[in-house]
Parts: sequence; structure tokens; C-alpha cells
Amino acid sequence: MIRLSSYVAGRWFEGNGPGALLINPATEEVMAEANAAGIDFGAVLDHARKVGGPALRQLTFKERATLLMTLSKLFHAHREELLDLGQANGGGTRGDAKFDVDGAIGTLAAYSVFGDKLAERTGNRKSILDGEMFALTRSPRFVGQHLWTTRAGVAVHINAFNFPAWGTFEKLAAAWLAGVPVVTKPATSTALLTWRMVQLMVESGKFPEGAIQLVCGSTGDLLDRLGPMDSLAFTGSAATGTMLRSNNNLLRNSVRVNVEADSLNALVLGPDVEVGSDLWSAALRLIVQDMTQKSGQKCTAIRRVLVPAERAEELGEALVDALSGLKVGNPMAGGTLGPVATMSQQRDVLAGIATLAAEGKLLCGGSSRVEGVDAPAGKGAYVAPTVILMKDGSAPGKVHDLEIFGPCVSLLPYDGSAGAAACILSMGQGSLVSTVVSDQRPWLEELLNGAAPWLGRMLLLSSKIADSATPPGMVLPALVHGGPGRAGGGEELGGERGLCFYMQRTALQGDQVVLRKILGLEG
Ligand code: NAP
Repeated sequence: MIRLSSYVAGRWFEGNGPGALLINPATEEVMAEANAAGIDFGAVLDHARKVGGPALRQLTFKERATLLMTLSKLFHAHREELLDLGQANGGGTRGDAKFDVDGAIGTLAAYSVFGDKLAERTGNRKSILDGEMFALTRSPRFVGQHLWTTRAGVAVHINAFNFPAWGTFEKLAAAWLAGVPVVTKPATSTALLTWRMVQLMVESGKFPEGAIQLVCGSTGDLLDRLGPMDSLAFTGSAATGTMLRSNNNLLRNSVRVNVEADSLNALVLGPDVEVGSDLWSAALRLIVQDMTQKSGQKCTAIRRVLVPAERAEELGEALVDALSGLKVGNPMAGGTLGPVATMSQQRDVLAGIATLAAEGKLLCGGSSRVEGVDAPAGKGAYVAPTVILMKDGSAPGKVHDLEIFGPCVSLLPYDGSAGAAACILSMGQGSLVSTVVSDQRPWLEELLNGAAPWLGRMLLLSSKIADSATPPGMVLPALVHGGPGRAGGGEELGGERGLCFYMQRTALQGDQVVLRKILGLEG
């Protein structure tokens, strides 16, 4: 069995004592164990502050962009091995593993390109201008200019179990481009892939020492040691996010905290979407994709489907039919819908289905454990794809509160008005993303104005783009990722916007001639 060590203060460290076990949820075979007990987190922060931070900060944006491309290529060169590990520890299909690993490779490459573009504006300057210089008084010499500079701290990244590759490296991409060293902690249950990726980085010798440190296991007193220049970016459940962000030390030192938490994302079918139309089929495809990709374990997956009441039954029938061809089972042996990531995740998902099924009508699936095809008898964290039809989508209920992190969706009949749809969306208390499907522009406009404040991202799916649109579950590096309220209130990615979390905006006041000179500006 592999024992996952942590990479801290320039060396690999094996935790003291027995570790937490990592399993393959398709078979329950034990893959590895991990334990971080005994790490000196004071030394970890020292190493990042004294070694990694200065090494990154002395690089130009162009050089940091090159570093990100080197990293993207390194992972691409080991892609097959990484996909194997992702599948073995995550339990999903090859496609599921690709979504994670290729997501990491692609986001690193995208941030490298953002860095190159930034470098065209900044040249050798290591700060970023925010807006134009402007006169503050009647004297044209006395001016103001906002400027972003790199914070001389450490970025602590804590990630969820569902994206051990993408989650780790989408965060790292923005931090490194900003010039900030990273201490990263994957969720223990699926840490095998992250561990191997960091091992590849260290073995390659191509990245500045101290720019990345890895903790496989508990973070001990790390958060109690963070200071005013440091930041914490967390992805995981709302409960853990709330607990971490209320840490006294983080509050006392105004440590920046970004939380990406759970979310009751929705898809809204407009009143104009006819049964069997192209938009109807496109919506159906998106729902099935989000239920099945990574076995529904995507923070961005559609959980609630708002459908005009008169079409709810037909949508239910079409969905059940589309899901009926799936083979729930071991993806290594032909299963097309793999298990959820852990046995405790399976318990949570089945309990959640039981709760929601009590509020509506179960159309397929259910809250009982199922045997996986080609899995050892009685083993594996399998869940049947489940569709629940609610009576009235606008009625309050658990469906607006309980995120079932698995292959389950609820259908919410509504009256077809944009006002009712916006109101139901808002009952999720803030979501990462939602999709609205319609060709009716006034209806879309009304829904946009009512719903957008509750959403981090919104896909407006109309006929002309139905074939070319990326699915809502796919987070794009150029667009912001995060959502208000229960989704955590955070914001990651969004191209250059992602750097702001790791940089300080300072308002400069001074002599135009002096400022232009020291900022390397023309004229
Ligand atoms: P979780 O149980 O909240 O764990 C998330 C991370 O927090 C793990 O790395 C976990 O480490 C760590 N953690 C737990 N307690 C901690 C503590 N006291 N101090 C420091 N770290 C601690 O969430 P999960 O079950 O892994 O992930 C599923 C949830 O993540 C879902 O609700 C999903 O919606 C959400 N999610 C959100 C996004 C997004 O971008 N918004 C993306 C993916 C997932 P251990 O594993 O070692 O306990």
C-alpha cells in the first residue's frame, strides 16, 4: 500500500502513526493511506515566506506564465498515468478522470496565456495598473492611480474530494501568476492523484523550491498561524467553510478567505420550449450529463429543474428513458455510471434521496444501495440515477436546501412565468450557476434581472447556440467561478480577475511625473 507523504519545507515527510485509508470506491480496495501528524506548520509557513515567495516574486509575469505552461506540459506528458490514478482513487469513468485532469492541464495553459497577455502591458513591471491615472485637484501634476502589487504572504488552498487535479491547479494557477507561494491540501479521501502530481513537480526540478508545499492529511494548527498577508481559499461543504472562516486568528488578522461551497444549481425550461424541440433535447442532454458526469459529484451540477407544470410529466418520462440505458457499475469493467467517491458519501447521498423522495414522487432510482455491475458482491459506493418529481416547485421544502452530491435531480413544476422562476431560483439562497432555456427575449430579460444577483454564473441557452454552448457544469478559466450566499460568496478564476485575491490594491497619490517614472509609463 502506498503511504502518502507530505511535501513540506523542502522534503517529503511521512506522518507519525497509522493514516486514514484511501479506497477505490468501485471495489473498496484499499489504495493508500495518508497522515500528516507531526508536521511543523510554523516551518511550512517560514519556508513559503522565505524561500517560495521571494523566488516567485522576482519573476516577471512573462516568466510566471512560462512556469505555468511548463507545468501544464509536464502533466500532459504524464496524462495516462494521472488518468489511471484518478480513476482508481475516484472510482469514476475514464471520461470523469479526464474532466478533472484535463481541466487542470487546460486551466494551467489558459492562465499561462492570460499571463502572456498581461506581460504585454506590464513588461518588466511586477505590479498591475488598475484604471487610468487621473488629476485629483486642479493641478495636473497631483494625480491618483490605483495599483495592484503582490502580497508578501502564503496562499493556503484546501480542496474538496471531487476535483483532486483541477481544484488544486486552478487555484495554484492564479496564485502563481500573482507571485504567491502555495500550501495545498487535497481532501484526504482522494489525495492520491494530487500527491502524484506534486511528486512529478518536485522530481522535475523545474519549479522554484517553496512555491508549492503539499499536506496529505490534517492541517493541524496551520490556520492559527496565518498572518495579514496570507490567504485561505477553501472549496468544500458549506458547513466546513463556515467553521473555517470563523477561525479567530483569521478574523483577527483579516486573513483573506475565499469560500467555494455547495450549491443548488438549477435549469429553467422556458414556457416556449416545446416537447421534442431542439431546445428541449439540448436541456435533456445537459440534465443527463450533469447527473452522470462524475456521478453527479460536481459543485456546478444541475440539482433542480424548473419545468412549466403542463410539461413536467413528459420531462420526467423523457429523463427516465434517457437514464435507462446506463450501466451502474465498475467503470474499469464497462460500467457507464461509476460509484460516488467514498462509502460515507454513499450514505449521505442515499439519506438525502430518502429525504427528498418523501417530499415528492420517485420516478426512478431511490435511496437503497445498488449492486454495481462487475463489482465485487456487496461492495462499492453505487447509487442509482434518481429523478424525483415535486408537486409544486414554488413551495418551500428541503429541495431548496439539501444538496445531494450524487446522481440525483428534482423536477420542480412552476407556472412558466419569469417572476416565479426567479423566485424559485432565489430559494436556493445563492448558487454557483444556473441555466435558462428559452428563445423569448422579454422573458429572458425579466428572469435575468430577477435571478442574476443570486447566481455566480448564468447560461442563457437559446436555439442558435444550443449546439455550440459549453455545458453549465464546465467551469471556464476566463469566467468567474463562485456564487453568493450558501455557495460561499467567493470568486475564483475569471482570467486576470483571479489574481486580485492574491494582490493588494493600493491607491497612489503623487506627482504625475514621479509616478510615471517609477511605474515605467510613457510620457
Ligand atoms: P468537506 O468535507 O467540507 O471537505 C473539504 C475540505 O476541507 C477537505 O480537504 C477536508 O479535509 C477539509 N477540512 C475538513 N475539516 C477541516 C478542518 N477542520 N481544517 C482544515 N481542513 C478541513 O467537503 P467535501 O466532502 O470534500 O466536498 C464536497 C462538497 O464540496 C460539496 O458540498 C460540494 O458542493 C462542494 N464543492 C464546491 C465546489 C465549488 O467550487 N464551489 C467545488 C467542489 C465541491 P479532509 O478530507 O482531510 O477531511
